Amino acid sequence: MADTKKKKQILPRTPMPEQAPEVRRTNFEEVTLGYDMEMAVAEANRCLQCKKPFCVAGCPVEVNIKDFIKHVQERDIVSAYKAIMATNSLPAVCGRVCPQENQCEGACILGKKGEPVAIGRLERFVADTFAADDACQELSGKDECPLVREDLKVACIGSGPSSLTVAAYLSTKGIKVSMFEALHEPGGVLIYGIPEFRLPKSIVHREINALKEHEVEINTNWVGGRTVTVQDLFDQGYKAVFIGVGAGLPRFLKLPGENFIGVYSANEYLTRVNLGRAYDFPEHDTPVIRGRKVTVLGAGNVAMDAARTALRLGAEEVTIVYRRTQEEMPARKEEIHHALEEGVQLNLLASPTEFLGDEKGNLRGLKVQRMQLGEPDDSGRRRPVPIEGDTFEIETDLSVIAVGTGPNKILLDATPDLGLNKWGYVQVDEETGETSIPNVFAGGDIVTGAATVILAMGAGRRAAKEIAKRLL
Ligand code: FAD
Ligand code: SF4
Repeated sequence: MADTKKKKQILPRTPMPEQAPEVRRTNFEEVTLGYDMEMAVAEANRCLQCKKPFCVAGCPVEVNIKDFIKHVQERDIVSAYKAIMATNSLPAVCGRVCPQENQCEGACILGKKGEPVAIGRLERFVADTFAADDACQELSGKDECPLVREDLKVACIGSGPSSLTVAAYLSTKGIKVSMFEALHEPGGVLIYGIPEFRLPKSIVHREINALKEHEVEINTNWVGGRTVTVQDLFDQGYKAVFIGVGAGLPRFLKLPGENFIGVYSANEYLTRVNLGRAYDFPEHDTPVIRGRKVTVLGAGNVAMDAARTALRLGAEEVTIVYRRTQEEMPARKEEIHHALEEGVQLNLLASPTEFLGDEKGNLRGLKVQRMQLGEPDDSGRRRPVPIEGDTFEIETDLSVIAVGTGPNKILLDATPDLGLNKWGYVQVDEETGETSIPNVFAGGDIVTGAATVILAMGAGRRAAKEIAKRLL
């Protein structure tokens, strides 16, 4: 008996099929292909059904992982979906993009001796396989939702995962939700940032269609602070306002030559490709510089997305330029692994000092300072220190800057009573998500700074619960 348990513990993870690197670097289709039922059951059977499941505490929204996996073991996908939906309204998204290695899977006991249960892959399998009868079931996992009351109205400014969560929660409780989004498509970073090959747009469209079916009103091309203000919304009869405008203002390096043609922020580059559908040429002839020799400056998830996008748009060479070493790269291990497999190159311990242009103002190169690692800084990572006199040039005709983002000021400046912290993000009550203005709530990246989908959803859920408590 003890022997069986031991064997169960050391079984390797069930691999998930994926497109071969040399094939996928030429298309925008999803890289990973998902489990089928047999693979999912085999992976679910690795779960030890621990008495105290640490994985649940590892998940920011405390998905009932043990229960949903038990249902997968029994091939009961309906019950598995319901168990997940009790706390997570976007499992198909989270299963794909959550940094599971630092969250649920990082806490899985199997990970101590071998590989943790593939919780994210199982969550994705359940969400992809479940076929909802109607929008109520799709959005809440419940079989019945109350009718939406037109006299109880709540507005969401922004339509990323935090607002999508607020809308799903409140509309399935019978509260009318209207969303106001600045761009021409709803979905936030899930649509304009994360590329199709990691998160197919159809997954996000499925959620948005269910919201529309559930009478959520989605207004695009509405800029909070310009087209509509928070006070306008209260004047129009909204009982509460949720601010989920993200942190999409790109940071630049402030280096000479940053205005040359061929230097983009990652935000602009990915938005052109994703929202402008530049990946679908010649169906959509979106103006975007494709680049022959592309450099990406930064080493987080956004940088990996930009680098892998450039490869797919036909670049001959794509290089990540980063001032530390691979060990300190902040991107998820899986993203770095996929990027390297596809042929993205790394130029490490290298810090750009100048963009070089030709006489027509086109980018032609990058001047770079060679670095070495010194003493650890405040983040605990070793500080990069320049090696005096050691500089070099890299030929490049497209450089994408992916060194972080900050809060966009439009709405914040138009709402002077909104309390901000010293970094310019919105201050909220941690329990309720309420801001310094009564009945105005906020959550997601505009509160935390650039973070993760699941943290934005968790914040949306906390605020929605409080709003429902006050209104119902
Ligand atoms: P957002 O998703 O940023 O949405 C905010 C929305 O508000 C946008 O649609 C914006 O247009 C709109 N808006 C802004 N200002 C206004 C205004 N004044 N009026 C109306 N609308 C406005 N996280 C992960 O967990 N895993 C990943 O793999 C991952 N990859 C990422 C890749 C990229 C390229 C990027 C940029 C981010 C990634 N993230 C990832 C982070 C994650 O996407 C964000 O943390 C999350 O989307 C934040 O959600 P949010 O609801 O706060 O806002
Ligand atoms: Fe893990 Fe994310 Fe699912 Fe939570 S929501 S169980 S962290 S994959």
